[in-house]
Amino acid sequence: QPREQLDAVDSVCPYCGVGCALTYYVDRERGAISFAEGRDQPGSKSRLCVKGRYGWDYAASPQRLTTPLIRIDSSYPKGPLSADVRGDADNDRGRGGGGGNRSGGGRSQKRGRDGRRKPGGLVDYDEVMPHFREATWDEALDLVARRLKEIHASGGPGAIAGFGSAKCSNEEAYLFQKLIRAGFGTNNVDHCTRLCHASSVAALFEGVGSGAVSTTYSDVANADIVIITGSNPTANHPVASSFFKQARRRGTKIVYVDPRASTVAEHADYYCQVKPGTDVAFYNSIMHEVIRLGMIDREFIAERVSGYDELARTVAEYPPERAAQITGVDADLIREVAREWGEAGAGVIYWGMGISQHTTGTDNARCLIALCSITGNVGRPGTGLHPLRGQNNVQGASDAGLIPMFYPDYQGVDLDGTRQRFEQAWGTTLDPKRGLTVTEIIGSVLKPGGVRGMYMLGENPFLSDPNINKVRKALGALDFLVVQDIFLTETAEFADVILPASSYLEKDGSYTNTDRRVQLGRKVMDPPGQARVDWEIVQDIARRIGLDWNYSAPSEIFDEMVALMPSYKNLRHDNLGLSGKLYPNADPEHTDGTVVLFDERFNTDDGLAHLVAAQWLPAKELPDAEYPLVLNTGRLLEHWHTGSMTRRSFALDSISPIPEVYMHPKDAADRGLAHGERARVRSRRGVIELQVRISHREQLGNCFIPFHFREAAANLLTIDEIDPYGKIPEFKFCAIQVEAL
Ligand code: SF4
Repeated sequence: QPREQLDAVDSVCPYCGVGCALTYYVDRERGAISFAEGRDQPGSKSRLCVKGRYGWDYAASPQRLTTPLIRIDSSYPKGPLSADVRGDADNDRGRGGGGGNRSGGGRSQKRGRDGRRKPGGLVDYDEVMPHFREATWDEALDLVARRLKEIHASGGPGAIAGFGSAKCSNEEAYLFQKLIRAGFGTNNVDHCTRLCHASSVAALFEGVGSGAVSTTYSDVANADIVIITGSNPTANHPVASSFFKQARRRGTKIVYVDPRASTVAEHADYYCQVKPGTDVAFYNSIMHEVIRLGMIDREFIAERVSGYDELARTVAEYPPERAAQITGVDADLIREVAREWGEAGAGVIYWGMGISQHTTGTDNARCLIALCSITGNVGRPGTGLHPLRGQNNVQGASDAGLIPMFYPDYQGVDLDGTRQRFEQAWGTTLDPKRGLTVTEIIGSVLKPGGVRGMYMLGENPFLSDPNINKVRKALGALDFLVVQDIFLTETAEFADVILPASSYLEKDGSYTNTDRRVQLGRKVMDPPGQARVDWEIVQDIARRIGLDWNYSAPSEIFDEMVALMPSYKNLRHDNLGLSGKLYPNADPEHTDGTVVLFDERFNTDDGLAHLVAAQWLPAKELPDAEYPLVLNTGRLLEHWHTGSMTRRSFALDSISPIPEVYMHPKDAADRGLAHGERARVRSRRGVIELQVRISHREQLGNCFIPFHFREAAANLLTIDEIDPYGKIPEFKFCAIQVEAL
């Protein structure tokens, strides 16, 4: 249909933290989106990657949940009822089959009862649905409220926990954490930031007093040099990556530091292929050299930094020759990179989950904060610290208080004055103790006196969390689980009640990208069947447990948030405009907001950057004779997290339909494996089978497996050791073995 006959709706992309602005062109006669197009906005400049351009058709999938569901037989074993995601290493050992899903890696051609071909690697609705019955909304919501209240009454506030979602809007994140805190009296509320940048936030909060980025990714245009580290932005933040590459063409030098030689390495002036888990040694050595060469900013250190002396003593232990032994990076290259960074007038460090998802994730980020601070690379254009946030609204959900230690805007739950302010605003008594994190909640379920009832909004921990055999035990052990989602996810198979929710296309709300840009997502179409908007479902549960909530629109919720969140001051839905606004923003009617933070002082109590020295520590599970390879997990360009959206997107799943293990040619050859052959990958926790991809981007001794694929679930293999500060799991390092099938 010609464009002029289509209805244009301006919104934002639902995938990565770049938050590209786009317009959907909707054919109202067909009731369907015809196409999407990038829209001008300072952070995306009309660009879209393949996910934003083609990845929206999942919302119209016939597999959408359209009716509330209640489990029929509560005595029936909970867990994956359909094509089993198992991979139990002990059960499987020596049998050459059995526990694992032996059909993994292929694209299923099964047909359902309706004759439609079933997409590969998804929950089998025909097998699962008979264990549930359809219910009315009143019946389902009454049951949810009654069971959660019963568990609260018998087990106390600590028996309840909630996982919110970085896929929901700011308003929904705010209401969800308010429900758990004000309705159940516990701070046991968290979301996927715990699996993504919790360690970065811990280090940033400690170091500079704010968990958000200090500058935007488009500020790369003002930088003389940037370090991109532990990140593959071409796959995970593609439009931000285009800004980086554009800046290089204009003269910005790029240093790329990553164990995997992703395509970014081809655009870099210096590529440092560190061994996985050695970031602290690498950056300590860079600082060692910067200090030795006298390239520190003495004035900045004297006026704006604390902890320098201890830092200098620690990094003195990391001369390049020692760091080269630990990291595998040539000592001369370390010296060269340090000199380039020290000589540059302005530099930014952009980092991803290769930094954060380690048991040393907080230490890794502390080193980056220290390197920027001692060279005066904070607080000016083209300088700063930027953890590239993963989900489209993980920044906003964190800002909105969807984390167990903070109310909205990172205001501590354990600070008496703060708590009293929220008690007054919300009209109730609040828990003075920090709550449990995502990883701690799963552990708590398996302990006596732990969490017994959970409300899961748009999260799929059965595929996203580490060591999912443990997650399975925990989800199966809960007394009551309510899952609110748009599809029957692997986690929903454990639920007692499933509530059909809305995709972002079916509601209005605000989303905050990695740059601190708050943008409006606008409703494109109605939810299917009886599915409902998430914030309305949360409100209905709140009313049933006795909270007097009467929100009538997301803008009303947003106004309440802004009144409690100093960072969001002056923002309203009606002044965000088509491009959104950066926060903080003193005058949103006339300005885009603040790009560079900390130009005069840091957000800490004394206004100084607090440097914390870190010693390098090896990963928790090192390779040995039995498990000689290192596993790194992550994402592909075409897919998103547990695949519930992108594997139902025709274009995206067609491009990338098969789970693969990426192997160095020699590692594959040593095991008699050729490209395209099938292999069994085993760790101490589980086993999967999938296809081999020979990859010159991997280091010898290292493998990469994306975690999107249910039928070869990478998190069956990963270890659930966590960083002691950010409580983030070690998704980037565990020991595995690979063998031919
Ligand atoms: Fe969406 Fe990120 Fe791609 Fe932009 S770069 S279109 S926000 S997935």
